[in-house]
Amino acid sequence: MILGDYHVHTPYCPHGSTDRWEQYIIKAIELGLEEISFTEHAPLPESFEDPVPEKDSAMNRHALESYLAEGLTLKQQFASDIKINLGFELDYLEGYEFETSQFLNTYGEVIDDAILSVHMLRLATNHYACLDYSADHFGEIANQLGSTEQVYDLYYRTIEKAVCADLGKYKPTRIGHLTLIEKFKQKYPLTKDNSDQIEQILRLIKDKQYCLDINTAGLYKPDCLSIYPNKKVIQRAKELFIPLVPGSDSHEAATLTRGFQLISPYLD
Ligand SMILES: [Zn+2]
Ligand SMILES: [Zn+2]
Repeated sequence: MILGDYHVHTPYCPHGSTDRWEQYIIKAIELGLEEISFTEHAPLPESFEDPVPEKDSAMNRHALESYLAEGLTLKQQFASDIKINLGFELDYLEGYEFETSQFLNTYGEVIDDAILSVHMLRLATNHYACLDYSADHFGEIANQLGSTEQVYDLYYRTIEKAVCADLGKYKPTRIGHLTLIEKFKQKYPLTKDNSDQIEQILRLIKDKQYCLDINTAGLYKPDCLSIYPNKKVIQRAKELFIPLVPGSDSHEAATLTRGFQLISPYLD
């Protein structure tokens, strides 16, 4: 049985629900979890413009101090019931490594857990697109780049840069939803084999002694219907003895540990 959910959002997520922290914590305790990691989307750098129309990809930077203060209070309040880890899901933004390192150097010391994820692709200098915003938007990116294959290729090249980037001593060592680019694969299937590219990334992750977020959210996305990373990639990661860390990527309390019965065979 999986005893922790290590990828959970909070009321500080502007594209999530308004569920309160306590709802997540009480639900986690009811589920018998011993541990929960709150990994809110870290604020985007001030100089980076959120490419999403609603500008709601990440936590507001002005809310950062209260996020940390509230999290710390709850951690202490529930200490005898559950271990609460407080941290971030941090975007790897190609070209913003300096700003990202500065953020980590400021807050790395006070957090317990973190995930490094790629949601944004740099299409050109100062031109970014959010790869998981919507199927239509994915289609637009594919049109701009020339094909679905090019979007996948750019995504995995960006992941490779994320794995290799020097983001200072607090760089997260867990890579978020490695195959997030498959979110719309039912509509935009990949027609080319990319297993060599993924193999190379897994080897880099192995060399750096990083681990992988095994993220069940994709199972419930109608155009995806699979785990991130997909089963084949999880299998390969397991063969390489890369540590696998389960997360539901919940943006509401009700979905904590959703789909964990499907990933538990990989985590034994
Ligand atoms: Zn989110
Ligand atoms: Zn994410």
